[in-house]
Amino acid sequence: MTTPISPKAPNRQRLVVLGSTGSVGVSTLEVVARHPERFQIVGLSAHARVDVLLQQCLRWQPRVAVLPTQERAQQLRAALAEHGVQTEVQVGPQALCDLAAASDVDSVMAAIVGAAGLPPCMAAARAGKRLLLANKEALVVGADLFMQAVHEGGATLLPIDSEHSAIFQCLPEDRRAWAERIDHIVLTASGGPFRQRDPASFDAITPAQAVAHPNWVMGQKISVDSATMMNKALEVIEARWLFDLAPERIRVVLHPQSIIHSMVVCRDASVLAQLGTPDMKVPIAYGLSFPERIESGAERLDFLKLQALSFEAPDPARFPGLQLAYDALAAPPGSTAVLNAANEEAVAAFLAGRVRFTDIHRVNAGTIDAFVSRLGPARSIDDLLDIDRRARAHAQQRIQEIAA
Ligand code: NAD
Ligand code: MG
Repeated sequence: MTTPISPKAPNRQRLVVLGSTGSVGVSTLEVVARHPERFQIVGLSAHARVDVLLQQCLRWQPRVAVLPTQERAQQLRAALAEHGVQTEVQVGPQALCDLAAASDVDSVMAAIVGAAGLPPCMAAARAGKRLLLANKEALVVGADLFMQAVHEGGATLLPIDSEHSAIFQCLPEDRRAWAERIDHIVLTASGGPFRQRDPASFDAITPAQAVAHPNWVMGQKISVDSATMMNKALEVIEARWLFDLAPERIRVVLHPQSIIHSMVVCRDASVLAQLGTPDMKVPIAYGLSFPERIESGAERLDFLKLQALSFEAPDPARFPGLQLAYDALAAPPGSTAVLNAANEEAVAAFLAGRVRFTDIHRVNAGTIDAFVSRLGPARSIDDLLDIDRRARAHAQQRIQEIAA
């Protein structure tokens, strides 16, 4: 059974939220809830949390909800039937792609974590949607092929990562003016929970300590990435493609207060910055309403209560992962996909208690070293997904050796 295509209500953006049960997904629905006259939720998706997805379906009555397995889908169908809700429950990666490209969808919030989000992002890009990209791993893996799909599909790509939203907000709407305006960009990084911890004790870091970010409340994977600064490494790669900048024009500075979300240093030495409280609802609201602005629900910045804004250089000995972004960007195409795959596997192994915090970098650097010399061509997304699979297998082998 296929539910009928949702009719378009006047002046309402028809929105799909992929990864709606995660941190960004939930924040997106919070912003949407403030503006029922502007948005209509057509689709939602989740991986594991069927109970949360059920509550979201009851609240938003989307046309489609997607889960990864028949078993979870059956669970949701039964619960929805009890409540008399018509949402059609679909299953698997192809259903995510179909939903992202559906004709009754205007905008797609890509808030899945990891490379698993790449195929639906590509489907949305090719179908010319407004694509709100939180899922940075998709762009790190897809690289120029992702951007090509955006251009060929006529999609509007709106960054949701707070740093990239900040840069985007500082630039003119006409992207043809970007190259001549920018000297370089500065991505700010909080430094995470271990900015001041003695590196000699990094081996003893527990998953609970690593996910306790000082400024942001986020999903587990990105929280660990913030602690290793691999998150910033992925963001350097993300910025390279989003803003078409050579890597040497992308710099990183530590800014522990997370008030300045990033900066553009212009040709004339003028610096444009975007500031705000660290709350993802701000970049989410901007992506949802661009080029307008709507209430986000975030707390306003109180300048009189602000402590000093401070800046530091990232210490390469403490955060060796950051350099891997520049190394991977200088290596053959596909290398950033290798780095991402290794990191996803290493972080999952760390969260599962199989390897130590410091092993994450060991796995990432080792996988890059082993792979880069024998990378095959990366001419299609399928090539990249194949590289992703092989890099994961290699990283898993390293993890097993370390865990043994
Ligand atoms: P999260 O772990 O809280 O949520 C992830 C969502 O993706 C969940 O809905 C989950 O069900 C779904 N999901 C997980 N694995 C999946 C798979 N294999 N297939 C399909 N769906 C799957 O993550 P998050 O913190 O919301 O982050 C989401 C994305 O946004 C990440 O790429 C992250 O880097 C990026 N991001 C997050 C923040 C933040 O503040 N949380 C900030 C900037 C960027
Ligand atoms: Mg970010």
